[in-house]
Amino acid sequence: MIAADLETAINGLRGLIENAEAIVPFTGAGISTECGIPDFRSPGGQWTKNQPIYFDDFISSQEMRDEAWKRRFAMDEYFAKAKPGRGHRALASLHRAGKVPGLITQNIDNLHQDSGISAKDIVELHGNTTYATCLSCDRRYELQWVRDKYAAGANCAPDCSCGGYIKTATISFGQQMPEEPMRRAEALSKNCDLFLAIGSSLVVWPAAGFPLMAKQHGAALVIINREPTEFDALADLVVRQDIGDALAPFIAH
Ligand code: NAD
Repeated sequence: MIAADLETAINGLRGLIENAEAIVPFTGAGISTECGIPDFRSPGGQWTKNQPIYFDDFISSQEMRDEAWKRRFAMDEYFAKAKPGRGHRALASLHRAGKVPGLITQNIDNLHQDSGISAKDIVELHGNTTYATCLSCDRRYELQWVRDKYAAGANCAPDCSCGGYIKTATISFGQQMPEEPMRRAEALSKNCDLFLAIGSSLVVWPAAGFPLMAKQHGAALVIINREPTEFDALADLVVRQDIGDALAPFIAH
């Protein structure tokens, strides 16, 4: 059912949330647009400006690593300033109330952690862009360190002391999905009674399979996204409203 207006949407959400014992939110870039971080697929989004850098190209070319870091530093204008929005705060409230055993996110912006949800309850399918790691030895690097080295090396991406390549701790196109988060996301999807897909165009696989998995295992499915998605016909409730507006009533003060 597509909610006819915001009030109907909020009432529908309230009923489902009150009746649920285990709610699993699944978030995409749309929950963070009100925080100033552009999504990928809305008009004017990043997608339309730059072709993504595939993992194999990052590995095989210094030029691509330099370009990847140049883009990341340019994006810091958005990431560094962003604070959790109303959607993040509402989900943190539900988590505090003991209704959310875990949250799955495709986002890489760390805003769910910043909203107060403990990192152990957040499953990051595509990693985190607020720090970097060495692809060979897994050592963690802070972005400021990378930025200083990059600038000192005439815009050349630095390598780890072990010789490995340093990359933001994110999953690129063509990079293998992380095993443990995939396992945890599957378990959460199969064991919830309410699955909330929020701010995702649901076109990036395999992440987009989780709403389907939850529905097939008996959960009620809600999709909150201002544009239609391929899964709308399967959902128990479709909310085509602004995410912040739809979730603000669920922020506990
Ligand atoms: P997407 O860009 O494909 O889809 C976002 C959807 O959110 C769009 O359909 C858009 O209509 C909707 N939306 C945007 N703002 C909204 C709002 N205020 N209210 C309601 N709907 C809104 O994003 P995706 O499905 O998450 O896939 C993009 C991939 O890119 C993700 O896998 C993620 O890793 C990455 N990404 C992350 C961030 C981030 O961390 N904030 C930002 C951009 C891209």
